Amino acid sequence: MFDWLVIGGGIHGCTISTYLLKHGKVQNEKLCIIDPHSEPMARWKRNTDRISMQYLRSPFVHHIDVHPFSLQQFGKISDQHNQFYRMHKRPSLQLFNDHSDQVISDTHLKKSWYQGIVTKVQKGKRGWEATTENGELIQSKNVVIAISVNEQLVIPDWARELALHSPQRVHHIFDDTLENLMVMKPPIAIIGGGITAAHLAIKMSTEYPGEVTLIKRHPFRVHDFDSDPGWLGLKRQGPYRKVKDYRIRREQIKEARLKGSVPTDVLHKVKGLEAKKKLRVVDGEVTSYTMDQEYLTLRVSSKAYQVRHVFLATGFLPTRPGNWVEKLIEEENLHCANCGYPIVNKDLEWCPHLYVMGPLAELEIGPIARDISGARQAAERIVASL
Ligand SMILES: Cc1cc2nc3c(=O)[nH]c(=O)nc-3n(C[C@H](O)[C@H](O)[C@H](O)COP(=O)(O)OP(=O)(O)OC[C@H]3O[C@@H](n4cnc5c(N)ncnc54)[C@H](O)[C@@H]3O)c2cc1C
Repeated sequence: MFDWLVIGGGIHGCTISTYLLKHGKVQNEKLCIIDPHSEPMARWKRNTDRISMQYLRSPFVHHIDVHPFSLQQFGKISDQHNQFYRMHKRPSLQLFNDHSDQVISDTHLKKSWYQGIVTKVQKGKRGWEATTENGELIQSKNVVIAISVNEQLVIPDWARELALHSPQRVHHIFDDTLENLMVMKPPIAIIGGGITAAHLAIKMSTEYPGEVTLIKRHPFRVHDFDSDPGWLGLKRQGPYRKVKDYRIRREQIKEARLKGSVPTDVLHKVKGLEAKKKLRVVDGEVTSYTMDQEYLTLRVSSKAYQVRHVFLATGFLPTRPGNWVEKLIEEENLHCANCGYPIVNKDLEWCPHLYVMGPLAELEIGPIARDISGARQAAERIVASL
């Protein structure tokens, strides 16, 4: 019997685990972090590496450790150059990952790591029981569900149809089955207008100058952060907490999340590549395609673009993650809002000893819930309640 079971070992799962361990709320032997990957934060590292993101969008105080200045201190003893980007001191991805690895090593997080996928959680006689896809049973007094929407890929209809006929020619950039981007040969089209598409366009057009087209539905939306920084604190969270109607909270989240936006520095890089004709940027939506043995012709309004491969940088579906959560809701009679997301108390407890983080905590934490800052605030609330 564990004291704590954390389902999902991404940024969120690692943050709550670090907080629990460092605050002395659990020992490694009594903590189990279950995740399908062999290493902590594997999906984060893979996704950010795929698009060769150089700097995080969030500032230096957002990381997986307890002390807000931990990453900054770590930067002082690291010999890396260009560790932080300008005014908001956004850490380089390298520094952020090295710091995370250090925290994971300091807390011996891997001693608590269990590779597997949870398919069911139910209440047992002595606490919670989680069943894995291999039929193992893990028992724990407390459970934190720290899963994300990051495996719910948005695929446009035309791309889904194309993938049926020719699966090698189109991939969502965060598809688990995509092993090596560089096997995709130019000319290449990238679909999407947000930060992921922009990073990918920079990467691919540097590799294949003049042979990459970025196709986006809307003009660039320029915002340095993915929501107004007021949402980090009481300025916006205060009034949000007073809203009792969860439909209004959901509307506020939708409005506040600056979806499909890019920060200024990333936009400047894209514009620079466009000016040098290394990258073509097209506003419009793919309406149809034709293909022959070698090429794929994408129709965008009255124009046609001939490419060999397509990358989708079209984001994630916002529906509630975790199919298995449905059964748990039914069996434990857990409260959900109209949007299907959990209604939890201020300690992020859905029912006694069952906690949520990340998107599942969105209706309580607000628009920052999925981000690193949301992971920190969730961990702070859970630990403070113990
Ligand atoms: C390219 C990119 C850049 C980003 N940059 C920033 C940034 O600069 N700043 C910021 O604040 N945010 C950023 N974000 C947003 C957010 O911080 C990341 O998406 C982050 O990875 C979310 O962490 P997570 O732990 O919720 O999700 P994930 O990294 O997806 O981890 C969830 C884990 O749970 C596991 N899991 C799921 N279901 C189960 C199950 N049933 N049993 C066991 N394990 C399960 C998954 O396999 C996964 O390993 C970025 C996101 C992306 C995609």
